[in-house]
Amino acid sequence: MFSGPPVYLMWSSMYNPERQRLKGRADLRRIARLFRPYWWMECQVIAAIFINSLLGLAPPLLTLAIIDKALAHHDQSALTTYVVLMVVSAIGSGLIGVYQGYLNALVGESIIRDLNCALVSHLHRMPLSFFTATKTGEIMNRVSSDVESVDAVVTGTLVSIVTNVITVATTLVTIFLLDLRLALVSVAVVPLMVLPLWPVGRRMYEARKKTRTKKDELQAATQETLSVSGIQLVKSFGRERYEHERFYKITSDLMKLEVNVALVGRWFMMAITAMVVIGPGVIWLWGGLAAIKGDITTGVLVSFVGLLARLYTPVSALAGVQVQIISALAVFERIFDYLDMQEERDSEGAIAIAGIQGRIAFNNVTLQYDETGERKALDDISFVIEPGQVVAFVGPSGAGKSSLINLLPRLYDPSSGDITIDGIDIKHMTRDSLRQHIGIVSQETYLFHDTIAHNLLYARPDATLQEITEACQKANIHEAIQAMPDGYDTIVGERGHKLSGGERQRIAIARVLLKDPEILVLDEATSALDTENEAIIQKALTPLMRGRTCLVVAHRLSTIVNADLINVIAGGRLVESGHHQSLMAQNGLYARLYSTSLQS
Ligand code: ATP
Repeated sequence: MFSGPPVYLMWSSMYNPERQRLKGRADLRRIARLFRPYWWMECQVIAAIFINSLLGLAPPLLTLAIIDKALAHHDQSALTTYVVLMVVSAIGSGLIGVYQGYLNALVGESIIRDLNCALVSHLHRMPLSFFTATKTGEIMNRVSSDVESVDAVVTGTLVSIVTNVITVATTLVTIFLLDLRLALVSVAVVPLMVLPLWPVGRRMYEARKKTRTKKDELQAATQETLSVSGIQLVKSFGRERYEHERFYKITSDLMKLEVNVALVGRWFMMAITAMVVIGPGVIWLWGGLAAIKGDITTGVLVSFVGLLARLYTPVSALAGVQVQIISALAVFERIFDYLDMQEERDSEGAIAIAGIQGRIAFNNVTLQYDETGERKALDDISFVIEPGQVVAFVGPSGAGKSSLINLLPRLYDPSSGDITIDGIDIKHMTRDSLRQHIGIVSQETYLFHDTIAHNLLYARPDATLQEITEACQKANIHEAIQAMPDGYDTIVGERGHKLSGGERQRIAIARVLLKDPEILVLDEATSALDTENEAIIQKALTPLMRGRTCLVVAHRLSTIVNADLINVIAGGRLVESGHHQSLMAQNGLYARLYSTSLQS
């Protein structure tokens, strides 16, 4: 069972600054681990950046040579050489840039693939309670747009940080070699540039974070109303206008947040631009006076100012490094938060069960969905089902019937008590092997938007065409499928909505027949159908139930009068148990439910 804190608590707890700092460090280590498989490519990227930043020094240095050597000495051949060198260095730098861009994209996309697979596989292993508590749109947003944002971080942010650091380092070495005093003046201006930008970082981070949360909301609203069931609900209640207003409110909030992010960004850029202009101004003045006095040559001054662009632009970008890193961390953090949620884990030493007899025992089973609350969905339930028996569960709505049968494949775990199959506690079995022996035909039949054949093969990918046909014949659906224009290749539509409810259910029955499990769970498989359809489904169910241990939840009590045992559940408790005749003779809840069901 999913035992972590509720989702909303997880999000709000992230705002603790100390936790944030420690988490930030841990996240940096985790991000580094993502790069590990691609370290060789990353080394090449860094080498390319280094070579390119050296080549970038060529134009200002060659300018110096042109002014002080070629022009001053009227040396035409030197002039040609320096110009050729300038062109060659520019072409070389361009070619290296292409290679670097290719490697960058490769690393970025590989990391996205790795994260996407890790995230989706992890989500597949999350307990059902996570999915009932979280909006599908929010999950989708993390899997799609958050993972995509990683690409921008990997190929953009991280590369620009490395590029800037290397550019600053190589430029610093060059200007100090060129002229010590001018270099000192240039460096003295740097703190003026960096300090004002520092506080902007946190504001940027907070703004981006709020934007992402709002995007989750937007995605959830879109997803909910644009699904087949959602749109049916919207239309049947005529709520298009309400949905429009709700959507308008969310998108307007998002718009304001995005404008805020852009505004903070513009302030940031304005400060950077101002500094990039002021810095060279100071050097022109200081260096110009020195050149007039004859302390330095014109060539040194001109190339120095040229080099300053290579110093101040990356320095000002690095002044925002804090913004860049925490914004990048925010992207990874949202993915890591999902990856850190506790997934379903088998207990230590869990055994993979092979063939089973199918003797099921519930021993004093209690279930509380909310562990902190008082309400028990199931309260001290005990019963035994012998192999091959058909046991029905009946009771009023909300009595706990579905909750009870969900415990068998461990979609939820009991809060206390235990369940055994053939005497083995199901907690000591691997979930995979346990679920292999249980087939479920549930209230809601889910089919993938794919062909009928592929939906059937989902139960057993190696099934032959003959096996599929046999299963469909037994499930009373083969002829109906053959009558369809594309037969088994008919696309069933979103969630199978191109088929009738009865057809969907018979396909679901055929799917379980293919799986051929020892234990069968039928959860109100016939409740949503009319009498004629119900008779067809019942006919389909008969071969499915034969020779299996069956747990049947039914509202139409006429269908379970022949069950080997009927358990009557009310308010989460087992209140009556026996055969149809004996229960009728008791004249209790079952007898009342039965007579009501006959009238309906
Ligand atoms: P019905 O015949 O109407 O389908 P049921 O007998 O199958 O009802 P359950 O679905 O087992 O009843 O529900 C039993 C109780 O547990 C109900 O009060 C329900 O609100 C609650 N419940 C069911 N599923 C969950 C869940 N995932 N989280 C929290 N509470 C739940």
